[in-house]
Amino acid sequence: MSKVEISRLRKLPSVDEVLRTEVSRLAIDRFGRRAVVDAVRTALAAGRAGHAALANAEDAAALALGRLGAEARPRLNPVFNLTGTVLHTNLGRALVAEPAIAAAVAAMRNAVALEFELASGRRGERDDLLRGLLRELTGAEDATVVNNNAAAVLLTLNTFAKSREAIVSRGELIEIGGAFRMPEIMSRAGAKLVEVGTTNRTHFKDYAGAIGAKTGLILKVHTSNYRIEGFRAAVPARELASLARKHGVPLVNDLGSGTLVDLTRFGIPHEPTVADAVAEGVDLVTFSGDKLLGGPQAGLIVGRKELIERINRNPMKRALRVDKIRLAALEATLKLYRDPDRLAERLPTLRLLSRPRTEIEALARRLLPAVVARLGDAFHIEVASGASQIGSGALPLETIPSAALAIRPTRARGGALAALAAALRQLPIPVVGRIEDQALLLDLRCLEDEADFVANLAALDLKATP
Ligand SMILES: *Cc1c(COP(=O)(O)O)cnc(C)c1O
Repeated sequence: MSKVEISRLRKLPSVDEVLRTEVSRLAIDRFGRRAVVDAVRTALAAGRAGHAALANAEDAAALALGRLGAEARPRLNPVFNLTGTVLHTNLGRALVAEPAIAAAVAAMRNAVALEFELASGRRGERDDLLRGLLRELTGAEDATVVNNNAAAVLLTLNTFAKSREAIVSRGELIEIGGAFRMPEIMSRAGAKLVEVGTTNRTHFKDYAGAIGAKTGLILKVHTSNYRIEGFRAAVPARELASLARKHGVPLVNDLGSGTLVDLTRFGIPHEPTVADAVAEGVDLVTFSGDKLLGGPQAGLIVGRKELIERINRNPMKRALRVDKIRLAALEATLKLYRDPDRLAERLPTLRLLSRPRTEIEALARRLLPAVVARLGDAFHIEVASGASQIGSGALPLETIPSAALAIRPTRARGGALAALAAALRQLPIPVVGRIEDQALLLDLRCLEDEADFVANLAALDLKATP
């Protein structure tokens, strides 16, 4: 060991010295003695190993406290979603409406009549809470709710096609992303997949030729995230309904996003509604709670009463059911649909999707000076027109006109844009944009708290490396 090193080690304070500093006393109040002692030991070990320069007890306390503070911050911190994708699966999909938040908080804080009939004092069913509302909004006879739409599809397949065959068009054997691939879900549900037709064309006779004594169900899947164009043919659910009925097997439609209202009245491209799907004569329809519906994560199954009853008798239902918090939020969300005239203002998903481009562009112009001031002359920033996406597989080809701040480095420095994107992600409220055509785009469709955004920018550190 060199003399310099020995002298450095001698100068390191003891744990007790560090704990006696003012900073440590405050930290103990906030985080508890044990956590602070551990953090101080870790800081001193870093000093001993030469990873941190600790001249005195105050330095060591500051290092320890910095780490504790960073660890105390919640990992599920809010972020600014400026990706342009409104229902961004990786950013948590739909923002829940205020009445739904209030309902969820009340359910968390209190005992609730979750499976308890207040009228009779007897045990009730948690599905009773939403059955009436879902019947009213979809025209279906009955309804049940599970963890998410993937669970709804899994449970439906397992209930009707376990050790039996499930008929699906080759054009609808989709992968939704990650591990949700229709053929794999089928095999996990215990169903034997019977593919009919070809990738681009499936005809009625293909289904009719495949149906038989071993058929458990016919499944139609909304090809959410892709579309076949050109020489194509698919069989409408209405035609399949009569075939299914003749053979006594259920026809199931996995709608994916499944909206409850006609979106065109809000200026959003048309997407089939759940009520449309029910009216086509389908026996069961499955859809998500946190896509276009704008509620908490959930999977909804609506359809014929005796089929819903069979689903509810499947022991798997217990493993896939939802808790009181989400049921409360879902109920409050669904109630907003009773007043479609005020839906766009009360339901964040619809509010954001229907936000006019002119309003977003005006916001971009207001924010431009603050962003220019913060980024200095290393970047050129302008208001650009952009295109937002709905996300989560809904209407993949339709985009919604939007406006963005487009940021480009003034000099072509390799990595400058990626470094800026990284610095924005390190902010106290991380800002997530998207890189396109060598520009960082901040699509402002989902930015509603302007003042918070500007205040947050003050902490931007372009030199920080994550
Ligand atoms: C999104 C989607 C699913 C999965 O729904 P989750 O709510 O994410 O579980 C299943 N099927 C289709 C057609 C979808 O679009």
